[in-house]
Amino acid sequence: MLCLPVLPFTANLAIGDAFHKLTQGGPFLYPHLLNRAERTPEAVAVSGVNRENQGEVKNLPGIPETNLPRTAVAVLDRPTGTPQKPTEKTSVEYYLEYIATSPSTLSLPALQNYGTICGSQCIVGEEKEGNGIVFRIPCRREWCPRCREVAHNHRISKVLPRLFQIDSMAYEVTTFPLEVRSMMRDPRVLTFLAKRYRKLLRKLGHRKIYTRWHYFGDKSHRFNPHLNALLDGGHLSPEQLEARKDLIRRKLLPRSIAKSIGKDLVIHYDWTREAKRKMSWVKYVTRATFKDIDWDEELASRLYGFHNGCFAGFWNDPPKWRLTGTDKKFNALLKVKEGIHPVSGMPIVWSKPLVPWVLAQTLNLTELVPWCYSYAAPRAPPLPPLDLSNLIELPDGDYRKHSNVIRREIDRHRELISRLHD
Ligand SMILES: [Zn+2]
Repeated sequence: MLCLPVLPFTANLAIGDAFHKLTQGGPFLYPHLLNRAERTPEAVAVSGVNRENQGEVKNLPGIPETNLPRTAVAVLDRPTGTPQKPTEKTSVEYYLEYIATSPSTLSLPALQNYGTICGSQCIVGEEKEGNGIVFRIPCRREWCPRCREVAHNHRISKVLPRLFQIDSMAYEVTTFPLEVRSMMRDPRVLTFLAKRYRKLLRKLGHRKIYTRWHYFGDKSHRFNPHLNALLDGGHLSPEQLEARKDLIRRKLLPRSIAKSIGKDLVIHYDWTREAKRKMSWVKYVTRATFKDIDWDEELASRLYGFHNGCFAGFWNDPPKWRLTGTDKKFNALLKVKEGIHPVSGMPIVWSKPLVPWVLAQTLNLTELVPWCYSYAAPRAPPLPPLDLSNLIELPDGDYRKHSNVIRREIDRHRELISRLHD
């Protein structure tokens, strides 16, 4: 069996356990958490002896370790990192996701840091008239300097079709106290907390919720996880707001911990109906905060394949707002993501094999947005040459063989002669 380097999983487990033990007995229990890794492709599934046993690590010589799920429903779980078959997603998204989370590409040490693969492959699609789109594939790692802006644009265009459906939009940020942050350096804890939060909001009556973690603040390079949420929400009275904050605090931080450290979650809530403000929130929430891998290399390796932005609720309403001003530039990308050629408006058929960017550059490309280009269909071939084979050659002395000037001259002389005869 091919043995790919397995990144330190035991460290994750130890932290998961610590959080688990700390929260035991309280409402903060998540038994499934230790058995199931959610989309962490850095830990390639291997068969053999399970290495996790209530926090103890057992290594049997000669037997490969396993991180496969052990629960009764394990067979239903997709093995970690397995690329999913695209169902309702467009093939663009499928490819992007595949590249971004594929263990076979990301586990190679040579590809880990500044991603030699980032942007080197393209997906190419054409509509039926041959007008095409070239889409360079970013690696989407937040700390990748090559594609940070591009990946941000992609995230924005990915969430917009749904967030357009929110008329009165609320923005809520939950910040965790310093004392519990070390326990949150585990993507499974982040997944769990976000899921719990979305569930609570659904219970509170919200129909549309989008959550995304920021790992760092703007001022410091120390891990400072805060949970951002964009949701359907409006004005709350001070009492309603306090009751809401209290519920969230109880749900996300066990009261025993809050009491022992003397601190609690800091929650900020705001709402708007203005399109411009909504868009600025969308940009802010989807931005990258982990801008340099050197800030926390261990956390970076743990976050490979972590599914950060998540939706909950119902998303089948018509759009309630649209882009204004310079934000309209996202419309082209939205169309492409929808599978529609932004110039001709016709559906695009994406070609299966990826095309190297060096090759795609030979096409006559026009940039729509960074890393997304269009090209026009090659010009239609000229009309076939005239078929002159059925023309009859005129005899040498024929009047029609003269040029127009000569013919006019001949006509003038004929006129003069006829007048003389009259
Ligand atoms: Zn990149």
